[in-house]
Amino acid sequence: MNLLDLTQEMGFDPHKTSASRGGEYHCPCPSCGGNDRFMFWPQEDRYWCRQCKAGGDAIQFCRDFQKLPFRDACTKVQKGPASDESRSRMRQVDLPIRTPSRSWEDKALEFTESSMQRLLLDERAMKLILQRGLSLDTIRKNHLGWNPVKVFYRRSDWGIEEKEERKWMCLPAGIVIPIFEGSAIRKLKIRKSEWKEEDFHGKYYEVPGCSNIIPTFGVPLKDVVVIVEAEFDAMLVIQEAGDLCVCIALGGAQKRPHSSLHQWLMSRKLILFALDFDEAGKKEYSYWQRCYPNLEPWPVPEGKSPGDYFRAGGKIRNWVASGLQNGNFI
Ligand SMILES: [Zn+2]
Repeated sequence: MNLLDLTQEMGFDPHKTSASRGGEYHCPCPSCGGNDRFMFWPQEDRYWCRQCKAGGDAIQFCRDFQKLPFRDACTKVQKGPASDESRSRMRQVDLPIRTPSRSWEDKALEFTESSMQRLLLDERAMKLILQRGLSLDTIRKNHLGWNPVKVFYRRSDWGIEEKEERKWMCLPAGIVIPIFEGSAIRKLKIRKSEWKEEDFHGKYYEVPGCSNIIPTFGVPLKDVVVIVEAEFDAMLVIQEAGDLCVCIALGGAQKRPHSSLHQWLMSRKLILFALDFDEAGKKEYSYWQRCYPNLEPWPVPEGKSPGDYFRAGGKIRNWVASGLQNGNFI
């Protein structure tokens, strides 16, 4: 049974809203209701609720909404706990990696450079970053910057397609986080400084037109990978334990590796899965566990993320080191 069968079985009448990603369907959320907030892609075996953020695959669906134990859920969707072959089939995601346009790169680089300058001149902003435990050296290496007020740009100036109603884009005030691949800028994110709970777009703004890569922090040759959700956490882990591990920041609990990243992850000796263990993180864990036999859950001992743990006085380095011991990696 796929997600379309499962939602219909529960009495919903999902409507197809687009043909993208093999067909997108909307219906009320089995958990929090509404009309069309629950979105799913049967071909990719993914669902997501815009409201309560419930997300996962068909197995997770059976567990969450039909209260089936894991084994029964697997039998129901006929997807047994994974063999190697089914693992690679399960990794539904083989979206092409997007590369930003030349004009996007130019604009992004220009914006990053001026943001770096502004950060150096703004004590308050600098304090915000230092409070996260990042050192001046880490800030410099990662080219972090500061955007003091929201700015508007014509999308076309960044080489982004202009749509009828959307000629402009607004970059919010906050900490500017560029993501590089070698010397090429690939992504630009802003941690909004004026974010409030009711802003359902989230704490981070991602500049349109950027790449969809999942960034790596530290030395890729390392045999141990720590997976975290936020870029700041990855920077902190590398600052404190960069000689022990390499780090990837998913940039969202539900992001999935592309095939090149998948191959690389498969060839590591140990993966420590440290995603924020909030509801979303727990739901994602079963996916990761099925895909990667070399993966160990390694949540921080306190708080939800390495950043939380650090602020609570935790020692990031000791936490990573004991993860290595625990995973029998000497
Ligand atoms: Zn919901």
